[in-house]
Amino acid sequence: MKIVLENLTKKFPSRNKKEKTDVIAVNDFTFEIPDGKLIGLLGPSGCGKSTALNLLCGLLEPTSGKIYFGDDDVTNLPAQQRGVGFVFQNYALYPHLTVKDNIMFPLQNLKGDKKLTKDEMQKRALEAAKLVQIDGLMERKPSELSGGQQQRVAIARALVKMPRVLLMDEPLSNLDARLRLQTREEIRRIQSETKITTVFVTHDQEEAMSISDLIIVMDAGTIQQIGSPQDVYDDPVNLFVAKFLGTPPINVFEGEVRGGKLYIGNEDIMDISGPSDGKVHVAIRPEGFDPDEKGRFSCHMGRVEVMGRDISVVCFNDNCENENVRAIISGENLPEVPKTGDVRFNVKPNKVFIFEHETKTRIPFDAV
Ligand code: ATP
Repeated sequence: MKIVLENLTKKFPSRNKKEKTDVIAVNDFTFEIPDGKLIGLLGPSGCGKSTALNLLCGLLEPTSGKIYFGDDDVTNLPAQQRGVGFVFQNYALYPHLTVKDNIMFPLQNLKGDKKLTKDEMQKRALEAAKLVQIDGLMERKPSELSGGQQQRVAIARALVKMPRVLLMDEPLSNLDARLRLQTREEIRRIQSETKITTVFVTHDQEEAMSISDLIIVMDAGTIQQIGSPQDVYDDPVNLFVAKFLGTPPINVFEGEVRGGKLYIGNEDIMDISGPSDGKVHVAIRPEGFDPDEKGRFSCHMGRVEVMGRDISVVCFNDNCENENVRAIISGENLPEVPKTGDVRFNVKPNKVFIFEHETKTRIPFDAV
């Protein structure tokens, strides 16, 4: 089921007596989510992710704009009639019910031609439980399950009504690091098997990048960029997106374009064509540095952190806006990194981005 949003906006009235401006939690969303895809809705805390999800499922009414599921206008349809499955951060399971009864719960209120017999309900519950691999735990209560198992029950409960759309609000945030990894792969598998269009909300860029077909990066109620995780990472439209994606984060410097050269401080790190002269922000991905004793860009050496196959060179540059500069290089290049003094690099042009100084939008350039 494809989802189409048209100029979708949600404003909340300000409760601040002095400042009467509304909070615009979702600002003019217009985009299409293709059928059968897993979409990661990503952004920092307070950017409007949960509001967007609540509008999609019908728990909130938009201030303006339209929502379509396929060709159906569902903007004014109550949540129960939208055919949506919802998975919350805190599982929201009924503690006094068994796993089986929790999963069957949404089927018990079906009316008219959708009404199911007890046998049919049990069959559907078992199918959903098998899909999330908890069919061996059907008689347990939620308190007798691990966090990961509880979240699977919540997913099975959302799937049992065979929803047209599955919405997940930070479904992994209550799990420990190992379970998060395992459960996010499970969610990917379940989504690929069921092909239900799924919107997955998270503030964790790594989580969104690793499982999504498409990511939507938001900031302050506004969409910044939509694309495949790799495309958005390789081609960020502005400094916010460049900084939001990537671990370790991208290195950002105060820089300048002057006479066909890109400067950081008084070092011209690259010859370029395209941008006009002026102050810019220069952002370099950690994997964008090649250590070279004759390199055009220098930093003051800090320390080396071994990460296994790769190493992280932590160094310092007065023009860097981050706390330090992090260069990820292959362990084989370690001999080229001095232990003290200055460390020099050449930079890889496809890992360098230039942003307009005031608006922070991307400025295209060619390396020459
Ligand atoms: P988090 O990741 O912290 O859950 P979020 O990205 O999901 O954040 P929302 O919960 O959608 O963000 O909130 C977006 C903005 O709308 C915030 O500024 C929030 O304070 C505001 N907001 C949310 N709900 C209401 C409400 N009922 N009344 C007033 N303001 C609200």
